[in-house]
Amino acid sequence: MNERTLQKPHWVDFHCHLDLYRDHVELIAECDQERVATLAVTTTPKAWPRNRELAANATHVRVALGLHPQLVAERASEVGLFEHYLADARYVGEIGLDAGPRFYRSLPDQERVFERILCACAEQGGKILSVHNIRAVGKVLGHIERALPASRGRVVLHWFTGTAAEARRAVALGCYFSINKEMLNSPKHRQLIAELPEDRLLTETDGPFVLIQGKPIRPREVADTVSQLAALRAIPMEGMRRAILDNLRAVVSSNVS
Ligand code: MN
Repeated sequence: MNERTLQKPHWVDFHCHLDLYRDHVELIAECDQERVATLAVTTTPKAWPRNRELAANATHVRVALGLHPQLVAERASEVGLFEHYLADARYVGEIGLDAGPRFYRSLPDQERVFERILCACAEQGGKILSVHNIRAVGKVLGHIERALPASRGRVVLHWFTGTAAEARRAVALGCYFSINKEMLNSPKHRQLIAELPEDRLLTETDGPFVLIQGKPIRPREVADTVSQLAALRAIPMEGMRRAILDNLRAVVSSNVS
């Protein structure tokens, strides 16, 4: 096995909050050790420099610049700082909209921030985005349709819970879907996930917000999700794993501009 083969990722965790774990540094090493291509999303642009520094020498960890919609009520003013760092960021997230009961009041501010981020991404080009869309799938897709043409950026919908019609609309817009363990626990979402196009599927953990036996899920545990996805879609595990890696490659390489 040559060095290049050794460095190929084996698994994909396209949405994990590494900086919210107590053992952030050890987790980065674990992602490299277990060859999990991990997207470390952040919730505020203030977290960007430290996350970047810690992952600077990692083989399989990439850091995304974020401004979480659930924090926009208090942190909308940080969009300026977000734009300041954006030129250095290939990956963007966590961003998006949350119209759940706790965050509904800030939805107009969230939409303003989201639109501004999408426009900045479209202007710079070549960004890869991990997008939150709780109870706001239609609005999220509307903003993407208006502000970020597929030729100017790649969108991965994180924890998608929309309808089949919304999924078709997202596919038509060029979006990918990162699937986690909790999504597969819902019978309604299982049905939808079973029907998503294979060439648009990625996996994620959304750790530490998803638990396994009471403990925050770790990126390497995304292997269970690949296995469940394979079973759900009635294909061999190895075929599912390779398809997800191919999709990661497509997301990362389709977008150089
Ligand atoms: Mn998240």
